[in-house]
Amino acid sequence: VAFDLFSKLRPALIGKMTQRAVLEALRERGPLSRAGLTRSTGISPTTVSNAVNSLLKAKLIEEGEANSEPTLGRPGKLLRLASQGAQVLGAVLDAHQCQVVSAGVDGRLKDTFSFPTPETYEEILEALVEHSRQLMRRGIKTLGLGLSLPGLIHRREGRAVLSPNLHQTDGKFPARDLKEKLRIPTMMMHETDALCLAERAYGGARGIEDYAVLDCNEGLGLGVVIRGQLLEGHEGFAGELGHIAVDPNGLPCGCGNRGCLETVATDAALARRLSAQLGSPVTIDDAVALIRQGRLDAKAEIETTLDRLSIGMAAVINIFNPAAIFVHAHVLDAGDEILERLKALTARRALAPALSQCQVLRARSTKLQGAVAGFVDHLFNTLGPKLSISESA
Ligand SMILES: [Zn+2]
Repeated sequence: VAFDLFSKLRPALIGKMTQRAVLEALRERGPLSRAGLTRSTGISPTTVSNAVNSLLKAKLIEEGEANSEPTLGRPGKLLRLASQGAQVLGAVLDAHQCQVVSAGVDGRLKDTFSFPTPETYEEILEALVEHSRQLMRRGIKTLGLGLSLPGLIHRREGRAVLSPNLHQTDGKFPARDLKEKLRIPTMMMHETDALCLAERAYGGARGIEDYAVLDCNEGLGLGVVIRGQLLEGHEGFAGELGHIAVDPNGLPCGCGNRGCLETVATDAALARRLSAQLGSPVTIDDAVALIRQGRLDAKAEIETTLDRLSIGMAAVINIFNPAAIFVHAHVLDAGDEILERLKALTARRALAPALSQCQVLRARSTKLQGAVAGFVDHLFNTLGPKLSISESA
């Protein structure tokens, strides 16, 4: 039945799906020759060749030096995701800092701009446009821009609905507004969803079907991938673990409630506690530097933060049964023992059978990579659905 359905799909769609399969193969196993692509995708040489030609024309892939491995025929040139002739832009909006980066389709980051997050939405937009334009150089095709931001994002409407740590964007349409000004395709994603894609494309989640990313830097965000698919919920609001109340009489949260997990289990919460201990404000990066130099004893405050964070870790493990959780937190830079301590505290709270199947790892990717991965994934998706033809086919 599946074969019959496949044969009825219009050739144009099959062409697009083959292009996507070629891109996926190059992302996962590239660089590859045309022959290597045929082997890797199980698609016929002619169909692969047509897809490669279309992708070269669209500048999504590039042809490099000849394949050095011995072959029977003439050596095939190697194909890879574009890094020279085309670029994508990534933009990260955060509570205190914004960043814009240029990158290849291969995800390699090039030039970055950072600036403090402006007070108003209009100023944020203006700064993003100005820095993006500086990165849109002549001679390089800019394929589009991926935008990563915190808070609730209505995927279908493209609206930033509510961001407890970045209220400037509430009710706004940042991707649409950037598209109007820059005249390139844009898309936006929740930052932890973007981190999930980055972790799969460039980090430690390669080949893992069920995993979660827990971002505990400013707010506490959760991205979940089940059977290879991002868990979005009805409107795209899923994953707001940070706004589960853990202390009914706790501190006020940016969302309007009190005692949310993110008020006690994040880098920002730790920095606030340490600022109180020191009697002067420190950022998490300052605090980590002081700890590493042996100039600040933060053991008790770190223990409290990790203990609260372990509540969130256990919730993720118990509810989603992931094969891995990638933790994104600057406090982990303070010493290797911190991740081990978090694992030990999590083990006290999570259900043992689910925990025993779950690796707890440091996230390797950054939000900038997330913004880039988000747009690259969007490019791949616009070509067509993923073909599930594997090497064994
Ligand atoms: Zn909250």
